[in-house]
Amino acid sequence: MPESFKTTCCYCGVGCGVIVHKDSNGMLVAEGDKGHPVNKGMLCSKGMNLHYTVMDKSDRLLYPEMRYHKQMPRKRVSWDTALERAARVFASIIERYGPESVAFYASGQCLTEEYYIVNKLVKGFIGCNNIDTNSRLCMSSAVAAYKMSLGEDSVPICYDDIEQTDLIFVAGANPAWCHPIVWRRVEAAKAANPDLKIIVSDPRKTQTCSLADVHLQIRPGTDITLHHALARILIENGDIDMDYINHHTEGFLPLAKKVMERTVHEAAIICDVPPEDIYQAASLIAHSKGLLTMWTMGLNQSVRGVDKNLSLINLNLITGRIGRPGCGPFSLTGQPNAMGGREVGGLANILPAHRLLSNEQDRLYVQQFWGGKPIGEAPGLTATQMFDAMEQGSLKAIWIMGTNPLVSLPDVRKAEAALAKAAFVVVQEVSNKPETLQYADLILPAAAWAEKEGTMTNAERRITYLSRITEAPGEARPDAEILCDFATRMGFAGFEFKNSEEIFLEHCRLTEGTNMDIGGLNYAILKEKRSVQWPYPKEPLLQNMPRLFADGRFYTKSGKAIINDPNDENESEPLSEDLPLILTTGRIRDQWHTMTKTGKVNKLKQHIARSFLEIHPEDAFERAISEDELIEVTGVRGTVRVKAKLTSDIKKGVVFLPMHWGKMQGSDLNRANNITNALLDKVSKQPDFKYAAVQVRKYIKP
Ligand code: SF4
Repeated sequence: MPESFKTTCCYCGVGCGVIVHKDSNGMLVAEGDKGHPVNKGMLCSKGMNLHYTVMDKSDRLLYPEMRYHKQMPRKRVSWDTALERAARVFASIIERYGPESVAFYASGQCLTEEYYIVNKLVKGFIGCNNIDTNSRLCMSSAVAAYKMSLGEDSVPICYDDIEQTDLIFVAGANPAWCHPIVWRRVEAAKAANPDLKIIVSDPRKTQTCSLADVHLQIRPGTDITLHHALARILIENGDIDMDYINHHTEGFLPLAKKVMERTVHEAAIICDVPPEDIYQAASLIAHSKGLLTMWTMGLNQSVRGVDKNLSLINLNLITGRIGRPGCGPFSLTGQPNAMGGREVGGLANILPAHRLLSNEQDRLYVQQFWGGKPIGEAPGLTATQMFDAMEQGSLKAIWIMGTNPLVSLPDVRKAEAALAKAAFVVVQEVSNKPETLQYADLILPAAAWAEKEGTMTNAERRITYLSRITEAPGEARPDAEILCDFATRMGFAGFEFKNSEEIFLEHCRLTEGTNMDIGGLNYAILKEKRSVQWPYPKEPLLQNMPRLFADGRFYTKSGKAIINDPNDENESEPLSEDLPLILTTGRIRDQWHTMTKTGKVNKLKQHIARSFLEIHPEDAFERAISEDELIEVTGVRGTVRVKAKLTSDIKKGVVFLPMHWGKMQGSDLNRANNITNALLDKVSKQPDFKYAAVQVRKYIKP
């Protein structure tokens, strides 16, 4: 019998609703859900091809595999043998070296229920906080900035603000390619309302810029200088909301003093943009009613990521454009469930429902709720710190689930060396392609999207239910089931869930009384309503809150938002005579992360089939490099060899590599992260993917 299932796209954080039709032969076709408030029936190229990634099972891991010794080949084993061994090895390492000697590295593509279980397992029962995810590479600067300015990791807007605003400032993002359905809504809004203005700041002239009224093509690393210059003009011209500042914020005067330290002309020189363009952008802000500040990796993935976020959020706060239609900070979440992961506390430095590791009462509450071990105050190892600790020998065992760090981590050769030194590596994974598998002592086959049920939260706090549509192949199992089985074999109580809804309900109960209370939710409500935004407490009057902070009260102790005053020095890797160019990395339109899914779809490869280096024609001319010529990009840590793409859309002095390619696509010489550096933002610990010093030369075959 043909059937149709409602679910959510598993790629970016836009969180589009998808209906998957299954015919009587089990063939699947995905289409946009017209009834879903996010996408209203639209899907981007990746979403439209979702069903191919599920139906093509040729690359799937089917059975657990294990080896007893690093030199031995892995052999197929039963789940019993695999998980008994995992439990024995983890228990013995913990007994010998302590709980800090093990870690779990998860993914923003995990379902909320999976995130909940792995967080409970590690923080509640193993007895350390070494659970982090690849969301650390993606949104952790935004998480810290929300906390420091609004009092909690809370995205205040809803997508309907796109149709209700008259000004969007896109900073360090290319949503036209990376968050396409949000951008289609912007395109439609602009077509319907010629008064809607768009400012874009980006060192590259991307597809997003085609809609821009002002494109500020700044030098990488100068975002804070730009945001301060805009703030200065607004303050000097009296285009700020003093009433809002006085009643609802703290910290305005130090910011006002700070932004006066540079003239707009000095800022323009640092940013390398015409001062008139900065004045024009400020004038658009001054004369609009709304202001949506949209950003993503261009700000987040930086050694000053948190400060870049804070300086942008300041523009909303000093103009009072937050908490009302068409206004507010709008972080574009990279991964489909990075938000859900944050909600259950699935990062090394937080607890469920935005509770704090640093707060004794929070730790005690969660410990008692779980009935587990005392929770330590110190944050656990973050993504890159795990691999550093492995290399140094203090971290003995790592469990990697649903992520491919040997393509996605910065300075990736260091991560390879670290994995080679680990005593015990578990890889819980869907595909047999990721580079990580070659280091695995134990491989656990996991069910993929559409083969398990659960929930995800998108970038506007919207929780959507995902249906189980088809059987997992071979012996693959849902991630949460694998983790619960392991936890039980470790002797831990509290993992005897009969289904994923029981996990979800426990998570909902743990949020009760917090600012993100979803105690009123269950799967039946999600299936009936299709999706809801949090908070969604039991009290009906407090449900359905499209925007946060409408009453001007924030989640800080004083109830006021904090205006921060960051410095604007660039602390990224210094350029030199030998390494005079700035390398920035990012995504292309039709590929997702390390291509384990989108790389299987021929249609998606037709957009851009190979990796490439974008270089300005003048930089290419100085190096006698022509279009499509093989070149080498060299930095302190490594080399990439790809073909050159000459374009004046990139700023002179800057080059760009896409982040998707790795060994899986034939050669590790096309892997951008051979070169990127592991400098971290000191607060968020997010790496600086957007700035590495490099040289580019023609490749001459030896
Ligand atoms: Fe999926 Fe994002 Fe495309 Fe929507 S915009 S279909 S969530 S990849």
